[in-house]
Amino acid sequence: MFTDFQNQLKLNNISFSLNESMKLHTSFKIGGAADVFVMPDSVEKCCKAISLCGEFNVPYMIVGKGSNLLVGDDGYRGAAICISNQLSYIELIDNNTIKCGAGALLSTVCNFALENELAGMEFAYGIPGSLGGAVVMNAGAYGGEMKDIVCGCEYIDEKGNLHSINADELDFSYRHSYFSDKSLCIVSVTLRLNKGDPTQIKQTMTELLSRRKEKQPLDFPSAGSTFKRPEGSYASLLIDQCGLKGFRVGDAQISEKHAGFVINLGDATCNDVLSLSQKVAEIVLEKTGYKLELEVKII
Ligand SMILES: Cc1cc2nc3c(=O)[nH]c(=O)nc-3n(C[C@H](O)[C@H](O)[C@H](O)COP(=O)(O)OP(=O)(O)OC[C@H]3O[C@@H](n4cnc5c(N)ncnc54)[C@H](O)[C@@H]3O)c2cc1C
Repeated sequence: MFTDFQNQLKLNNISFSLNESMKLHTSFKIGGAADVFVMPDSVEKCCKAISLCGEFNVPYMIVGKGSNLLVGDDGYRGAAICISNQLSYIELIDNNTIKCGAGALLSTVCNFALENELAGMEFAYGIPGSLGGAVVMNAGAYGGEMKDIVCGCEYIDEKGNLHSINADELDFSYRHSYFSDKSLCIVSVTLRLNKGDPTQIKQTMTELLSRRKEKQPLDFPSAGSTFKRPEGSYASLLIDQCGLKGFRVGDAQISEKHAGFVINLGDATCNDVLSLSQKVAEIVLEKTGYKLELEVKII
């Protein structure tokens, strides 16, 4: 099955590698190998790769920058289709509208917005993901969310067909979108921003980035906030109140700097992170009554 699939990838000039360690493609630096790691560099190749998965019955998953992924220690049996670093164009469509490949990095798009004196996405500066991943997750910070700025996307369905979708159909809510838990691949995102004062935009971006550096354990691999914010409180506050800063299973640890982050001290496994998260959630539930749910996507 995989041999025919690989032959077709070659015939269609679609780059791929075999047994690719997902540690290399996740900010957690955790995870076994994906059988096939596919790197299409155009929308057409992305459509083809997905339709080949269907044709040869190869399960697939989409990988952006891997900054919200926890991949199992046994890896992924199928094709991990990665569009980060590919499809990363950014273009100005009109005075205040930007169209980007879904593989463009949020920070690069923020800088492009600044260069074009466009305000509205400063909140996203410092979120270490791709634009596609940010739309799927409705990523947000410091009072802003992707839902405030996205006005449409193009995506590929499971059969390899291209579609467009408008903002009002994107079903955004807290860390959720129309794309959550579906096998659709976003290939472009259109953002609507507002004309702004570049000095002010830059100042906000710089301030928010320094708040991240001050509060977050950025010198350790992680996937950001491990748990979603429970209604009425904050995961980090509850974990801290339960005295769990520094709590550790194997090399997975609740950060001493920010209790909302599970960090990888070096050799953490997916199982370490899951068992730590489960224990933390149990203790928090018992001591505070709040139920913590994982924000990180488990593969
Ligand atoms: C240090 C740190 C700080 C962080 N801070 C924040 C923060 O402030 N706010 C916040 O919201 N998040 C934060 N995150 C989490 C993460 O950066 C975001 O969720 C980000 O939007 C994920 O984008 P990604 O490209 O890395 O997606 P990935 O982690 O690669 O994937 C996330 C999900 O999106 C899917 N996906 C990715 N790309 C596509 C695509 N093109 N088409 C379809 N599906 C796709 C994947 O299949 C997966 O389900 C942080 C993470 C880290 C490590």
